[in-house]
Amino acid sequence: MSQVLDYLKANKTNIKDTLIRLTKAESPSLNKQLVDLCGKELKREFTQLIGGDITIIEKETVGNQYKFTYGNHENSEQILIIGHLDTVWDEGVLPLKEEGDFLYGPGVFDMKGGLTISLWAIKAVKELNVKGNCNIVLLVTTDEEIGSNESKGLILEEAQKSKVVFIPESSIEPNGAVKTARKGVGKFTMKVEGIAAHAGINAWDGASAIEELAHQIIDLKKLSNQEEGISINIGVIHGGTRSNVIAKEAYAEIDVRITKKEQAEKLQHAILNRPHYITGTKVEVAGSMERFPLERTEQVIQLYEELREIARVHGYELEEGASGGASDGNLTAGIGIPTIDGLGPLGGGAHQESEHVSISNLPYRAALLAEMLIKHSCVKE
Ligand SMILES: [Zn+2]
Repeated sequence: MSQVLDYLKANKTNIKDTLIRLTKAESPSLNKQLVDLCGKELKREFTQLIGGDITIIEKETVGNQYKFTYGNHENSEQILIIGHLDTVWDEGVLPLKEEGDFLYGPGVFDMKGGLTISLWAIKAVKELNVKGNCNIVLLVTTDEEIGSNESKGLILEEAQKSKVVFIPESSIEPNGAVKTARKGVGKFTMKVEGIAAHAGINAWDGASAIEELAHQIIDLKKLSNQEEGISINIGVIHGGTRSNVIAKEAYAEIDVRITKKEQAEKLQHAILNRPHYITGTKVEVAGSMERFPLERTEQVIQLYEELREIARVHGYELEEGASGGASDGNLTAGIGIPTIDGLGPLGGGAHQESEHVSISNLPYRAALLAEMLIKHSCVKE
């Protein structure tokens, strides 16, 4: 028996309609105009469903960002929900359609479904007249799919004021497991400058940037460690101009994934400070560990246990899992704020044409988040 779940189940169609409206307002990360329109739609939903304080953070290059606040407790710690409006889909590429229990469309799973759930979870808290001790803040960014450069500061600032962070990003398919761990991510670029020369006439006067890069790649790969959960991928290389010219330039893009925060510093140092192999070449590396991992700490396990207990009362088993990808949850976990991720709807196909969510399950996921909001906002100081 759960009042929260009953309320949300009774609103199943309304929840679906919110998701349809948010999905129809397509919002590719790089199209500010469209993302802003979607933001207006979200603002309208928040105002109609909940009402409360709205701060718009104007942005020049990406869509405007929003801070929605429910509750008016002064100087209290807050509960933070973080979502993103932007999707990886260009306008008009993926149709929105309903088939059986599933809704398909651009961003339904990643993560307009999560935003929908968040709105309805807060709505349930409000309608059931739960009196909490702290404000619930829904922070909505617009550049998560392109690295969160325009929102990182805001996320960290709001996280500092929060006692717990919920991330309704896509769950793990097919069972809707929540994410209790995410890998950290680093991005680096390497530029090698050599000395061009004719491959036949004065081969020994040149210094091959490609040859140097080849050494670097083999060397960098040695930093990978499967047992420790460290992986290095050199996913892009360019270099040289012609087969009969010793290459003057070569370039590589490096992606680093880690599972523990303490791995970051050492790896970053090793990548930025390269040994050198071919005389006459110069190696320049730029980049950093952009996001720390979301580690499965005691705090995270505690949050998962709470969720599991709620799910049991709602009649199902909630599983947990790890993701190799990063989200904004990595940022908040990285500064030590208890964070749990993957609270979004049951569904699948993030970033794929098969992207979908289960309609009948939406009230369950909204109820899961709502019960957590109630639990954490009512804790006596
Ligand atoms: Zn996402």
